[in-house]
Amino acid sequence: MLVYIAGAGAMGCRFGYQLSKTENEVILLDNWSAHIEAIRQDGLLITGDVEDRVQLPIMLPTEATRQADLIILLTKADQLPKMLQDIKPIIGKETKVLSLLNGLGHATTMRRFVPEENIMVGVTIWLAGLKGPGHAHLEGTGSISLQDLTGQVAAVAPIVEMFNQAGLKAQYDENVIQAIWQKACVNGTMNPTCTILDCTIGELFGTESGLNLVQGIFKEFIAVAKAEVGNIDEEGIWKYIMDASKKAASHYPSMHQDLVQHGRKTEIDFLNGAVVFKGKRVGIPTPYCQMVTDMIHTKESILGLR
Ligand code: NAD
Repeated sequence: MLVYIAGAGAMGCRFGYQLSKTENEVILLDNWSAHIEAIRQDGLLITGDVEDRVQLPIMLPTEATRQADLIILLTKADQLPKMLQDIKPIIGKETKVLSLLNGLGHATTMRRFVPEENIMVGVTIWLAGLKGPGHAHLEGTGSISLQDLTGQVAAVAPIVEMFNQAGLKAQYDENVIQAIWQKACVNGTMNPTCTILDCTIGELFGTESGLNLVQGIFKEFIAVAKAEVGNIDEEGIWKYIMDASKKAASHYPSMHQDLVQHGRKTEIDFLNGAVVFKGKRVGIPTPYCQMVTDMIHTKESILGLR
């Protein structure tokens, strides 16, 4: 298969690196010039659980010309429309396109560029970081759940198999929307709160008032999720959040890293902001999500990111 990784940042480098160890052809697409230059000159440096350096082709999205068998989307959420616009020439009639971004609403964006029968959505709990241009740091283990929108399980089987050959532990999930909401609940409860409060996940969950905040946001996510997708495992998702908070107690969540540590725009509009938007459509009040979205937007404006 010819596989493009559209957005070769932290996660794109993990996926590109691991998939490059299979018999498939992998091409990275990115527009960060220092990163492109470093990978072209010295290869992609991998540290962490494995130490390696691999030669991987990398180019601007607009430089790619060969139609893809598979495109894996791994930009940040607000960067997705521009990426899809730029890769239109490599999206053929048979090209499958998979989103593994965090957050809600990506299938709607994809429908503007990709035929319904070629869209796949998923969620991953793999982690990755970038230490600098051309240098990805990979630690821990994870998995991928994915589904295609028209239920062509057999057509997607070779893609699931490819991920498993790469050690990425994928499974076809007939109810992936539940997994997407679950991950959004984790991110939506921890990310904006720890970012606004400048605290670790353990510090947030370790106070009664912090836990109240988390519960307030969680109930809004669940109410809107139920309105949108029907049955949702509220108890299971709450348990998942509590388990995740214990495992990652000493960590600052990714939104804190983006906004506070690196001064980058966040994915709030695709988490709590999306819940506010969807809640309005179905008449569900979402004051906690509105408040944290406004606070993150304000900080982004102060930093000149909006
Ligand atoms: P990142 O910022 O490291 O990578 C995004 C990359 O996309 C960047 O290198 C950027 O230059 C590139 N890009 C964006 N728009 C582009 C465009 N129009 N043209 C070319 N290149 C473009 O982000 P990440 O941490 O890899 O996260 C990607 C997605 O995966 C996010 O939705 C994130 O929430 C999710 N995610 C991340 C992790 C993690 O551990 N990093 C874990 C799970 C999920």
